[in-house]
Amino acid sequence: MFLRFAAMRIPTILLYEEPSSRNLDLEDIRRYLGNWLPQVKVEIRYPFFTHYLRTLPEGRREEALRTLAAEFARIKVRNPAAPWQDTEPIYGEIEFERRRLTNPERPLFGLLYDGFLLMNVLRSLIPRQENNPGYLHIVFTNQLTGTYDENDRRYHARSAIFGYPCVISTTGIVEAPAKPREFYVLKQQYEALKMADGVDLQLKEMFKGQYLDHDDPRLTQVLKGYVMQALFYHLTGEPFCPEKDCRLFNAHWQSELLAAQLGGKDFCPKHEDMLKSMARDME
Ligand SMILES: [Zn+2]
Repeated sequence: MFLRFAAMRIPTILLYEEPSSRNLDLEDIRRYLGNWLPQVKVEIRYPFFTHYLRTLPEGRREEALRTLAAEFARIKVRNPAAPWQDTEPIYGEIEFERRRLTNPERPLFGLLYDGFLLMNVLRSLIPRQENNPGYLHIVFTNQLTGTYDENDRRYHARSAIFGYPCVISTTGIVEAPAKPREFYVLKQQYEALKMADGVDLQLKEMFKGQYLDHDDPRLTQVLKGYVMQALFYHLTGEPFCPEKDCRLFNAHWQSELLAAQLGGKDFCPKHEDMLKSMARDME
């Protein structure tokens, strides 16, 4: 493992803004990466699609925007209990996506997109000179992404999709890891009693601090770990660690997520050593 590592080139890391999360501070993430890997090159960019459209000559942007909007309307998951099916989107859906793409600072709720199809769309827009292992693209998005699980035959929301590029969902990180069991029990009881109005606020108060909420003040701190998972994925193919107090732990519960990312320790001894040896190799 260490030998394989030594021969590896640490990529230039490109972080794409997600402006609907006001608590996402990419400068802070850049500093964090720099603390572990002082020589690493990190570039902070506009939101992925804004960046892409800006690289095109002005006369071609409108057409590109329409094509992208249609793509996004197409890769939505219409039925989470069935595999994705190609459906011709209607005009209103395409218009919705077009507005979303031109207003990335607006929050987005209620839609699920197929994670791998989303990754394919993103990859197709990366210019050839940046489409190689020398670049690690980390795309932050407020789109909720999911992947279909053949075992229980339904889509599951995901916090991150590791591939090329890596996608980290600021909505997924709230929705994908499960909240405390009692949260769901109470939510169901309230709903059964037709007391659903205001239930979200009440539950939020009761379980305060026990899960990551939309635009949580702890968001940046938590995402540092996900950025490191993306880096380890890029270099070794393995983003995760079985140690619960390591930032590379693959959390399925919100309590695990908070413990791994905010527990006060960054990495287990093995991953700390790996990072230190990467830093030395870069000198
Ligand atoms: Zn570890």
